[in-house]
Amino acid sequence: MISQELLHKAKQYLPALQEKRFLAAYDFAKKAHEGQKRRDGSDYITHPIAVATNLLNFHVDEDTLIAALLHDVPEDTPYTEKDIAKKFGATVAFLVEGVTKLQKVHYQHNMAQREVDSLKRLFLHSAKDLRIILIKLCDRLHNMRTLQFIDKREKQLRISKETLEIYVPVANLLGIWSLKCELEDLCFKYLYPAEYASLYEKIITTVKMRDELREKTIKMCLKTLKKTGLQVQIAANHKTLYTRFKNITSTTEKIEDLQQLISLHILVPNVEDCYTVLGLIHQIFKPKFGRITDYIAVPKANNYQSLHTTVFGLKGAITEFQIRTYAMHLTSEYGVASAYFGNENNPQKVLRKLNSRTTWLQKILRLQKEFSDNHAFLDHLKLDVFQNRIFVFTPKGKVVDLPEGATAIDLAYMIHSDVGNHAVGAEINAKEHPVTTTLHTGDTVHIIVDEKQKRPDRNWLNFARTNIAINKIKNTLRDESREQNVRAGRALFAHYIERFDLGAGSRLSQTVKTRILALFHVPSLDTFFALIGEGIIAPKNVIREVYPAELILGKPYKTVDKNFERTQKRSIVSDVPLPLESILKYRVPVRILCMDRVGLIRDVTNVLAKLDINICDFITLFNDRSKIHTMDLIMEVNDFEHLDYAMSELSNIIAVTTVFVRRSKKSR
Ligand code: MN
Repeated sequence: MISQELLHKAKQYLPALQEKRFLAAYDFAKKAHEGQKRRDGSDYITHPIAVATNLLNFHVDEDTLIAALLHDVPEDTPYTEKDIAKKFGATVAFLVEGVTKLQKVHYQHNMAQREVDSLKRLFLHSAKDLRIILIKLCDRLHNMRTLQFIDKREKQLRISKETLEIYVPVANLLGIWSLKCELEDLCFKYLYPAEYASLYEKIITTVKMRDELREKTIKMCLKTLKKTGLQVQIAANHKTLYTRFKNITSTTEKIEDLQQLISLHILVPNVEDCYTVLGLIHQIFKPKFGRITDYIAVPKANNYQSLHTTVFGLKGAITEFQIRTYAMHLTSEYGVASAYFGNENNPQKVLRKLNSRTTWLQKILRLQKEFSDNHAFLDHLKLDVFQNRIFVFTPKGKVVDLPEGATAIDLAYMIHSDVGNHAVGAEINAKEHPVTTTLHTGDTVHIIVDEKQKRPDRNWLNFARTNIAINKIKNTLRDESREQNVRAGRALFAHYIERFDLGAGSRLSQTVKTRILALFHVPSLDTFFALIGEGIIAPKNVIREVYPAELILGKPYKTVDKNFERTQKRSIVSDVPLPLESILKYRVPVRILCMDRVGLIRDVTNVLAKLDINICDFITLFNDRSKIHTMDLIMEVNDFEHLDYAMSELSNIIAVTTVFVRRSKKSR
């Protein structure tokens, strides 16, 4: 029985494998795919088995094998990720979800977009758990191996092209050489059938000649190297046809040279030995000028390390040597998988390695730039776009990428200006939030719209992060009449004056008026208010420029760093507690008005702790009649920006209605 065979192979390196769980997964997959056939006529279950078998080569863990068996269940059967989570746990479900394409129903008219969005999700999930991309690569390998059964040439081409443009570079960057080579040659075969056939024939005809020459070369080298007492191994390096093809088309190398080319790996225990071997090889054969590369001192982007040299070998045949340690060889052949699963029983250690490898995603993206011409998606994934980005889902499962710090407003305008202009709130992970809320990767966001709301709120300009949203808001606002802008600007500015407890917002002192006219080069206060109304001048900046800092923040005073975790760490490092440096802080009294609800105080203190703000005083008062909760706190802040940001974040908490500075009881 196939399942027993698979189990047996897995147990050879995974003695602790839970047989029952493993066989349950097999049975579940088999039952789920019952009646489905692969293109070659075999039962569907042969495919997940083949994928799991491919993964065995990488010594993957139990969850990965189980996920491989189940990987097509949500996509092709009535069972869902939830069913998998219930039976086999959240980890397996997450792995399966990562390789599952997004649902067809949402993409009826745009299947290409479905591919793109599915790919985005694959990368996104893989960044969290690299095992996903390994499953996907092994899945793709089996699909490529059986591509001849797909009768539509168009489809064969599309799949091969996608594989060559995306999965081959991914395998290469992960350093999974064996997988990369096989995938690459399979793609070559389908994309350039004539060239493949011709090259294949030419290489094949010279195989015997090369094999003989190679054996002789190996013998000769071993003899010399072993005399020095070095522990060496020499192995043939079988070059892919596609690499040869690329060499012919992109360099001056001739097919005749390639027919002769012999390539060998020399493996030694440590780095010094690599250089010793290089010297010895150059004593045996004459090196070809300009063909020595030290990838040990300067590793390739995928962490590949080796010494390369090309020499005039036996009978003048061009012979290439790649000299490396056993460890480098393992990394080169099995890439990231070797670091993950290679007999590593210490999960902490694996995790650490995992983290150090997360830059892989960026590397993929950098590489994909080269292919951006013919694939709009790759354009999207350019490093500068991808870096510091967050990904959120619409309720239909569509992925939207936004810059870090983006809010629901940005998403709303990304969807459509109408959605933006009419937005009144956002349902984030099924909970209602203000539309100004900051979004995070993985959030599912539904924008709540109300046709009655006709225009964007000016205040949104303080929360929008994308140019799309900022420009659309400004344009919509500019279209309104000047009078409206003046009125709105005046009200907004008054709100800010009151927010920082700087007097009655509607009446500005003569000094303030004069300062404003001079600072903003405006002929009248009305023009100034109109500019605020249009969103051109941010009231926050006016406050900072016009009012002395001391008036808003009070006098600075000396204190010490109150972040216990940080100061603790410092003293552990030096063994002797260091005298803490004194720093300057401002104590600002702030009042929060809110509706009463469970968890409110927790949310307030959470927001402040995240911003590294110490609370010196905290008094709360509940009015039973109005159901309004009043919180008076004294916050220690670094500067005006810090205070302003904290107040914005506080006003974003659900049920909070107003946040303002309240310096003394008299002023209110
Ligand atoms: Mn599959």
